Amino acid sequence: AATLIDGRACAERVLADVERQSQALRQEGITPGLAVVLVGEDPASQVYVRNKMRKAEAVGIRSFEYRFDDTLKQAELLTLLAKLNADPEINGILVQLPLPATIDEHAVLQAIDPRKDVDGFHVENVGGLIQGRDALAPCTPTGCLQLLKQQCGDLAGKHAVVIGRSNIVGKPMAALLLAEHCSVSVIHSRSVAPEALARQADIVVVAVGRPEMVDARWIKPGAVVIDVGINRRQQHDGKTRLVGDVDFASVALIASAITPVPGGVGPMTIALLMHNTLKATRLQHASAESLALF
Ligand code: NAD
Repeated sequence: AATLIDGRACAERVLADVERQSQALRQEGITPGLAVVLVGEDPASQVYVRNKMRKAEAVGIRSFEYRFDDTLKQAELLTLLAKLNADPEINGILVQLPLPATIDEHAVLQAIDPRKDVDGFHVENVGGLIQGRDALAPCTPTGCLQLLKQQCGDLAGKHAVVIGRSNIVGKPMAALLLAEHCSVSVIHSRSVAPEALARQADIVVVAVGRPEMVDARWIKPGAVVIDVGINRRQQHDGKTRLVGDVDFASVALIASAITPVPGGVGPMTIALLMHNTLKATRLQHASAESLALF
């Protein structure tokens, strides 16, 4: 049976490192600050935002919450972002997605200062990631990469298949794996014979949002499987249960290692958000110092 990849334990290590770094910054008189913006009443988003704020405080990052109902106008949101961009106490800005349909998501993400873009969704950071520069990269795929490195060590030469091509997970995941010298294939809803392609892979990362879609037929014996999916599935007794995009029961029999849901990628996403906030803080203070030299 497959080794369980423990996302909670790995996240704790990332967070302990973040806490050490934020303590060191405090001694220089710097307290990292994270602004979290939530528009609308989406229940899952409310849970995510609460968890992010709580985790930030736990590792010495000051968090600032901005909540609005879904009547908020795009112009008002852009005004808020301009204010946060200019505020030296704010080092990271996160706009929780999805936004209400009345607001243009792209315009909003572009309005965040790329140096404060801790989600890594600004085109400047996306471009930096594609070029292999040390940009702020999206938290979920960066967390997946850390789990893979912990499990496999050097990834060079491995064939990685990413299932899903969203801007949030699939595409940046492919770019990160390419930067680690993997051969990368991306499977999406128009792919032909996806099972056969996935079955060639040493590493499979699944981010499609379809409960338990990927079963043992998609997986080469011995492959390492990362399940990004978070789906609520109703059981026979009426209770709901969280399941991934991978059929854990069948895949765990043939994979060499697999992430559970929950307890796999989820905790890493939030840990990497804290990591990115620290990275953004250091970036901003380093450039302020180099400006002071002139
Ligand atoms: P998305 O809906 O934006 O993208 C889904 C992708 O899957 C699309 O690119 C689509 O082409 C592809 N797809 C759809 N049907 C397919 C099929 N039959 N075969 C192959 N590909 C198919 O979703 P997303 O934002 O990338 O999220 C994916 C999943 O990951 C969701 O369950 C989401 O809840 C979860 N998620 C988890 C975390 C975390 O922290 N663990 C973070 C983000 C997303």
